[in-house]
Amino acid sequence: MAESSRTPITVLGLGAMGRALALAFLRGGHLTTVWNRTPGKDTEAVAAGATGAATAGEAIRAGELIIVCLLDDKSVHEVLDPVVNDLAGRAVVNLTTTSPNAARELATWAKGHGIDYLDGGIMAIPHMIGQPGSSLLYSGSRTVFDEHAPALELLGSAEYFGEDAGMASLYDFALLGGMYIMYAAFSHGAAMMRAAGVSATEYAPRAVSWLTAMTQAFPVLAEYIDSPGDTVGQTLDFTKKALDTIVQASREAGVGLEVIGPIKALVDRQVADGNGAITLDAIFEGIKPLNA
Ligand code: NDP
Repeated sequence: MAESSRTPITVLGLGAMGRALALAFLRGGHLTTVWNRTPGKDTEAVAAGATGAATAGEAIRAGELIIVCLLDDKSVHEVLDPVVNDLAGRAVVNLTTTSPNAARELATWAKGHGIDYLDGGIMAIPHMIGQPGSSLLYSGSRTVFDEHAPALELLGSAEYFGEDAGMASLYDFALLGGMYIMYAAFSHGAAMMRAAGVSATEYAPRAVSWLTAMTQAFPVLAEYIDSPGDTVGQTLDFTKKALDTIVQASREAGVGLEVIGPIKALVDRQVADGNGAITLDAIFEGIKPLNA
């Protein structure tokens, strides 16, 4: 497709991520206009063919699809509030990380100003943008997602999670939470092995194969969580014994209990409440929202 037939795109915010997004659109043949609060950050994008704009308003007027990649929801308002008239009638995709409710607030604000708003969560780091493995989650305006899917797919796989603008962010943080808990789990194991002089590098391949295999249990656990009922598999009584021994082994190795301790506390509480005969989904019951 010729460059002129592709949607002109504006990227607001040229931090590490905004620069990667702009370069991906340029590689995809889009006329791309860029703006950043602090001047001088557009050198790489301009060298690759982007037009640098002096103001956010000038940048927005040059684009049909406006990509926002700033710091947080406060900075999004700081940049977009003064140029709301320029945004009216345009499609805005906000890839700035915000909480689900902040995304919903921005969607309501946008609707009130005649702006078609799609929120996005980036499941990638800048050098992955446009490469296999880069994944972006979207929710909000279905029209924006459908009309601009080819451009959005230049950044990575694009998945849509419905009209509720907070859903992409909710998935983003649920997955990121899991990632950080898993990294902490790796550190706990590496600390235990360090006590015996085994390096983290030696331990890492074991952790990869074991934890990867264990993720296969997620769908089964999900069934228990969604339909609590018959107990099949490991009971919490069994899990408690295992955790007690893991804690003992951690203590023997002189490793802090900050990572494993809260998990043991959750299981202990469920067993104390009489749920020892049921499976690991009792952990979910112990932390789920009160009204769910
Ligand atoms: P950077 O810190 O590199 O860049 C932040 C950008 O926000 C800069 O362009 C900065 O402008 C701008 N900014 C901050 N505050 C304001 C403000 N009040 N008004 C105008 N502009 C402002 O961050 P990244 O580019 O890495 O991240 C951008 C977004 O992408 C964040 O929400 C981040 O969570 C998200 N993200 C980043 C990932 C990553 O790996 N980097 C991964 C997934 C999501 P200035 O140059 O003037 O300071």
